[in-house]
Amino acid sequence: MKNELFEKIGIMGGTFDPIHYGHLVAAEGARCHFGLDMVFFVPAARPPHKGDRYISHPSHRLDMTILATGSNPRFQVSDVEIRRSGPSYTIDTVFHFARSWPGALIYFITGADAILEILTWHRVEELLDMCSFIAATRPGYRLENLAGSLQGLPSRYIEKISVMEVPALAISSTDIRERVKKGMPIKYLLPEKVEEYLYSKELYI
Ligand code: ATP
Ligand code: MG
Repeated sequence: MKNELFEKIGIMGGTFDPIHYGHLVAAEGARCHFGLDMVFFVPAARPPHKGDRYISHPSHRLDMTILATGSNPRFQVSDVEIRRSGPSYTIDTVFHFARSWPGALIYFITGADAILEILTWHRVEELLDMCSFIAATRPGYRLENLAGSLQGLPSRYIEKISVMEVPALAISSTDIRERVKKGMPIKYLLPEKVEEYLYSKELYI
């Protein structure tokens, strides 16, 4: 894959515990709207923002991400963060893709909640030197407040953050995990293969 010529690469980072249609719709929206050659889904190893919540084993999150993206030839899954030791920082991941595809434009795709916290990210200015950000709208998070959240960031960096409207899907992994625990349906919130996988591995019960 490394010898394929990509001019524009998307990176969709997340815990993906489990991956759901909100992630897939945001990634496909970004791919289409920004003309990305490929979107790499990168499950995080130890997300710095997740506190102490129990997170499923990386191999399960990786497998679910592979199952969810398999039908889209412009989606790939990368285990780069899972293979790396220590905390998962986006900047290290962006460096990895920049080294693999020198000269390619890199777009990091997030949802509204993540972009509102971007100033707390590790080495954020260096990160914005290396890639652009695409912030997908997400129910429950108001991007009208984005300018306020970015206060203090030089304008050349603010210009590298684009808001992208996607069909509103009030789906979250937290809600899916709670539904599984309570025996409530999760059908149509995530791909069937992922649903089958998480039940067969008895995740979230
Ligand atoms: P959790 O509830 O465990 O935090 P999550 O549903 O927020 O899970 P993450 O793995 O934390 O999923 O999210 C990965 C990325 O996908 C983040 O940038 C997040 O903002 C974005 N995202 C998640 N769900 C949606 C959604 N429904 N619409 C748009 N973006 C989303
Ligand atoms: Mg989240």
